[in-house]
Amino acid sequence: MKKLQDEVLSRRTFAIISHPDAGKTTLTEKLLLFGGAIRDAGTVKAKKTGKFATSDWMEIEKQRGISVTSSVMQFDYDGFKVNILDTPGHQDFSEDTYRTLTAVDSAVMIIDSAKGIEDQTLKLFKVCRMRGIPIFTFINKLDRQGKAPLELLAELEEVLGIESYPMNWPIGMGKEFLGIYDRFNNRIEQFRVDEDKRFISLNEEGEIDGDHSMKESSLYDQTLEEIMLLDEAGNEFSKERIVDGTLTPVFFGSALTTFGVQTFLDSYLQFAPSPQPRNSTAGEIDPKSEEFSGFIFKIQANMNPAHRDRIAFLRICSGKFERGMTVQLSRTGKTMKLAQSTQFMADDRSTVEEAVAGDIIGLYDPGTYQIGDTIVSGKEGFLYEKLPQFTPELFVRVSAKNVMKQKHFHKGIQQLVQEGAIQLFKTLKTEEYLLGAVGQLQFEVFEARMRNEYNVEVLMERQGSKIARWIEGDDVNENLSSSRSLLVADRFDKKVFLFENEFALRWFQDKNPEVKLYNPMDVS
Ligand code: GDP
Repeated sequence: MKKLQDEVLSRRTFAIISHPDAGKTTLTEKLLLFGGAIRDAGTVKAKKTGKFATSDWMEIEKQRGISVTSSVMQFDYDGFKVNILDTPGHQDFSEDTYRTLTAVDSAVMIIDSAKGIEDQTLKLFKVCRMRGIPIFTFINKLDRQGKAPLELLAELEEVLGIESYPMNWPIGMGKEFLGIYDRFNNRIEQFRVDEDKRFISLNEEGEIDGDHSMKESSLYDQTLEEIMLLDEAGNEFSKERIVDGTLTPVFFGSALTTFGVQTFLDSYLQFAPSPQPRNSTAGEIDPKSEEFSGFIFKIQANMNPAHRDRIAFLRICSGKFERGMTVQLSRTGKTMKLAQSTQFMADDRSTVEEAVAGDIIGLYDPGTYQIGDTIVSGKEGFLYEKLPQFTPELFVRVSAKNVMKQKHFHKGIQQLVQEGAIQLFKTLKTEEYLLGAVGQLQFEVFEARMRNEYNVEVLMERQGSKIARWIEGDDVNENLSSSRSLLVADRFDKKVFLFENEFALRWFQDKNPEVKLYNPMDVS
């Protein structure tokens, strides 16, 4: 292994955020192909559709055809070690998806050029914003007719509230897609043209010198005009602002035809940060320090009752992991040996011997870990910052089917809530239990784990989606609670209103302006 410092500096750890169908799987696959981590396009897809699901991972995930082996993918490219963390979408969207974003150093946001910013992109974007994570935007499917590029930039600013800097600009789109005008490398990259002729370099004015068929197209002239507009009225490029997450570099391309992907990857690697120092109770921890440390951001339960073991996903934040090393779990002060560990690769799970800050490893978990746990190799234990609270959107009322099982029911709920599998709320007077989640899958996992691990059948009554708002100062008149604005307490006894819909929320705010409500996921 190279020196620790060089190893850490070569890490780039990111997640792809997007709405389903924007092209995340396709882009991931193309990136892995560049890195030589997979041989055939279609491998990641096969995992997605379940053809690869062979192991005994949790039943629900199998049914849905997700394989845990694609949770984290690592590949080498141009001297970098790139870690891609998966953020599941569709019905599998859950708090885990959000938490994954606490384990990355940057995010790649894919936008379908015909659809613009969609619901799930917005949600994931907010979490990145909350964390100050740099965001790189890839506008996909330029081989199809989509929205005008200027309109897409306006959407970034208006819907997401982030300034952008287009690193390149499409010349036409759909059937008339000629390629991209690469502002950053001062060249044009032509679509569907052989590699030896694909690039046209530009002169100092940013134009093609001499004769070229490209110049005959009116799309070329239009692009030059738009570039002029961007140069004059657009944002300035700033590496610092990319790194602090206030400016997103924008790339256009087509993942399916592998167009613009390498250009994107090269710039991404150049500007995306390597692992950064993280705050802890012992101050900022330098990722290059010799002492190993990290935190658990996700626990994958095994639904097979014969195998209760789980995998805890650990983001290494400093130092080097070596198999068999002795570490301390800061929450309990207990020491233990990390003997069974797994690294996640594109093709298979394999045992990891060594890993450094920026990498993700899977730890065999017989029930030791909780989400947010810090693990350190030094004698002085410390804690990394608590993971943020995410606003649940779906709710169910829950109770034990068999009243004789109350004890098991309470124990199970306590533990699963503590582990971060689900959020618990209680109605104020009647003390009924409500569970809150970000995605439906969390309820299914909860139900299955209560059955398998605590031997309790639960009754779940859907309450549908609600808008949860916490209360500043936590002091509120309990009589304001109604069916359309239900007042409940979270597991820390903080009061929360669950509003039936946007309308109920606005109505409440109009009537009760003195009650200051907030959403923990909103950043000012
Ligand atoms: P995911 O749900 O975000 O993982 O999206 P996929 O990668 O599975 O892509 C969704 C659909 O869009 C698939 O049918 C892809 O073949 C298609 N797709 C992805 N990238 C492109 C692209 O650049 N151009 C076109 N025309 N289709 C694409």
